[in-house]
Amino acid sequence: MNLNRAFYTGRFQPYHNGHHGIIKKIAKEVDEIVIGIGSAQFSHTLEDPFTAGERVMMITRSLKELDITCYVIPIEDINRNSLWVSHVKSMTPPFKVVYSNNPLVQRLFKEEGTNVRTLPLLNREEYAGEEIRRRILRDEKWEDLVPKAVVEVMKEIDAVERLKTIEKTDKL
Ligand code: NAD
Repeated sequence: MNLNRAFYTGRFQPYHNGHHGIIKKIAKEVDEIVIGIGSAQFSHTLEDPFTAGERVMMITRSLKELDITCYVIPIEDINRNSLWVSHVKSMTPPFKVVYSNNPLVQRLFKEEGTNVRTLPLLNREEYAGEEIRRRILRDEKWEDLVPKAVVEVMKEIDAVERLKTIEKTDKL
């Protein structure tokens, strides 16, 4: 069986409705989706608060509502962009097409000969990891910007307290 499998990557800090909307659209165009959790080595910082495992939970539980096979795979960064595509391929099931709006990701895959497709950004002002992390820190409403399953995972891992603790300093 020669399946049309797609690759989609992001840091997913956290996984939000923009990512989820795009994956729903990809699901209509291919047979299976490989989701690469980028910068998998980072956690417990203001930019990258969640571990790769926590992001796996957010995505896997959100995808339960979709009727398509998805493989969620953490991928650590490497310090050499020209080798990154080979690195990704060494960690993932084979795929024929990449969906991305990230210019560097697009460029690296195009140079290597992979078919790259883009999809429209969805409500980018609000569906953005930086905006969601900012709202959490300022006690503003963020729950409607992520799938319900992500709200549950965030509760389970005490995400709000973690972000607030990371923001604190012991300097005067
Ligand atoms: P991201 O979570 O910001 O975005 C993931 C994808 O979702 C992108 O295509 C983005 O355009 C899209 N997206 C975001 N908000 C959206 C919205 N509201 N509507 C529709 N689409 C939306 O992650 P990213 O920064 O693009 O992730 C790329 C990953 O690849 C990073 O982890 C990066 O470190 C990794 N990478 C690593 C290397 C290396 O290690 N040398 C090289 C290239 C990329």
